[in-house]
Amino acid sequence: MENVFNENAAKDFVERYPDIPYEFALRVYTSRLFGSEPDLVLHGGGNTSVKLKTKNIVGEEEEVLYIKGSGVDLASIEPEGFAAVDLTFLRKLRKVESLSDKEMETQMQIHRLGLSGVNPSVESLLHAFLPHKYVDHTHADKVLVLTNQRHGEDIIKKALGSKVAVLPYSMSGLPLAKAVFSQYEKDTKIEALVILNHGIFSFGEDAETSYARMIKYVNRAEAFVQEGIRGKILMTPRVGIAPCGEISVSVARVAQSVRGACAHRANDGSLRRFYVANRNTSDLVKASLSEEARGLCGSGVLTPDHVIRTKNRMVHIDHIPEKDDDLKKIITREIEVFKQAYHDYFHCQVREKGVDREELDPYPRIFLVAGLGLLALGFTQKDARIAADIAEHAIRAKVQADAMGECVPLLDSHVFDMEYWSLQQKKLGKTSLSMLQGQIAFITGGAGAIGFGIADRLIAAGAVVVLSDIDQSRLEKVRSILANRYGETKVETITSDVTDYQSIEGAFDEISVRLGGIDIVVPNAGIAYVAKIEALEQKNFEQAIAVNLMGTFNVIKASIPVFKRQGTGGNIVAISSKNVFDPGAAFGAYSASKAGAHQISKIAALEMAELGVRVNMINPDAVFGDEEISSKLWDLVGPDRMKARGLDYEGLKDYYRNRNLLKTGVLSEHVGNAVVFFASDQAPITGATLPVDGGIPAAFPR
Ligand code: ZN
Repeated sequence: MENVFNENAAKDFVERYPDIPYEFALRVYTSRLFGSEPDLVLHGGGNTSVKLKTKNIVGEEEEVLYIKGSGVDLASIEPEGFAAVDLTFLRKLRKVESLSDKEMETQMQIHRLGLSGVNPSVESLLHAFLPHKYVDHTHADKVLVLTNQRHGEDIIKKALGSKVAVLPYSMSGLPLAKAVFSQYEKDTKIEALVILNHGIFSFGEDAETSYARMIKYVNRAEAFVQEGIRGKILMTPRVGIAPCGEISVSVARVAQSVRGACAHRANDGSLRRFYVANRNTSDLVKASLSEEARGLCGSGVLTPDHVIRTKNRMVHIDHIPEKDDDLKKIITREIEVFKQAYHDYFHCQVREKGVDREELDPYPRIFLVAGLGLLALGFTQKDARIAADIAEHAIRAKVQADAMGECVPLLDSHVFDMEYWSLQQKKLGKTSLSMLQGQIAFITGGAGAIGFGIADRLIAAGAVVVLSDIDQSRLEKVRSILANRYGETKVETITSDVTDYQSIEGAFDEISVRLGGIDIVVPNAGIAYVAKIEALEQKNFEQAIAVNLMGTFNVIKASIPVFKRQGTGGNIVAISSKNVFDPGAAFGAYSASKAGAHQISKIAALEMAELGVRVNMINPDAVFGDEEISSKLWDLVGPDRMKARGLDYEGLKDYYRNRNLLKTGVLSEHVGNAVVFFASDQAPITGATLPVDGGIPAAFPR
């Protein structure tokens, strides 16, 4: 691992933050260096601090500990990501016998010296007690490989040298902070300290020294690991395992089945669904196909910080049968075994410790799947990706740890303390339970005004949306507006052609690889031609049928195997048209093909009810879109309609507004709201048509 401290970059940071002391700016700089190296820390892991003397508003000097906020990501940390705490007071806590979680939290809050919105790291006291100006802490992979060995203490001493102290594992908080301080008092020359089964701390009087020490010792650990595994066979390939066919198709099938099997009712009765992330680097695939795979899954986390993301153990799926039913059986059986083991672990720990805790959900987060690498689950897409990254590093490190000697991860008792520690759970934040939380929506015609409006409303209601279209550049435009509004993880795009069944099937596979599956399907792509029957050319009529009717058919048909594998129901909301009930002259190609799509959707409602999938239709009228995202349909037919009626664009909008009962313009977000209504299962409706047209009597459903 390279020491990437750079004088010029450090100066840039000092200049970038002129309002804070330069030592603090350098603290931000090296914190980011740690955060940018995934072999050191991952997603909010690790923590850093600096101790400064500052003057308060009445001119008195105060000693302040600036400590990373709990759960803040070091890779992108800003000065606001640090909490300022009264250092003089924190040091007094050394005299306190014990401190409950609640009391520690209270004291931290009382003695804060700034208004930063973040909570001080759970390791604040350890940072406070050490006298060094800079303290850094990581869960470096290579250090974890060594600390999880049977004779971890001896190995660490041998590998890292005499200026590194080693402490046995103990839970973060006051006792660990005290133990670290007394270790320091015994030998004030130490440059770093390793806590077995946890990680490494380095310290120094300036930012560069503390950073450089971390890199130095991690490199020593790495060299020791390399030496230890040299010439050894890391993994033994399992014999007789059948190849799993095309990888993306297999990942999609397994992801859909896993996602369905792990969906469960929460205490409030709502169905909690997971998002799925996939990692399939060649070493993970190799691990998944090895004799050691089951052992890797069963041995537990290398540092307890990870347990809230990945749970302690993983599930191994040792082969992928060709038939979906057989696959489901294997996955369900493995999940049941996992859940039972989790219940046993929970009840055993609660009983032994004599504590009262509410059991967290017993579902696994990580699956190591033969031939496919790993699948990770999370209640948000971000959580799934974090779990995947952590598991990827953990599996790699465990393979090395096994090859080094005997890997002995933490006892369940310690893991439980960490998993059920209130301060640790806080890091996960409150997962919003908005209406469509956990759901994945697929919208065709995603580059147009209605697609945009539907996506906007679905994301606002909690879903992750995948927009599909054949028009890649418009699709990107819509995506970037939504990503700016809601965040990059809420919207994905995929180029596909609704007239081509294989293209849609491929899109569903791709979405399942990226996200895990599909819950809400919105066939929305549509085209129109303005021509009386006399002038309507067959090829134009056929094209309207291909997009409007066959497109709807293809999307519904391709969704069925996905819904079947998931087994958790879902919603299809077909965007139909006012013209189905109230057609207009010269609009035959559009009206007839939409009527066909409407009818096939009703048939789908009849056939898919047994899967728990509801199919409903929305009949909008005259949705123009806005300047940002226009309606492709109106771009096409608008000029002709204006000419026919002798109106300009605004005049045409007025015309449509005035022809409905409510004298109102219909916006794409109105259609979006109607989709959310159906998709959120608020009433048991299927096969229904909802007009969103301001009220047009001739188009009333009948
Ligand atoms: Zn830690």
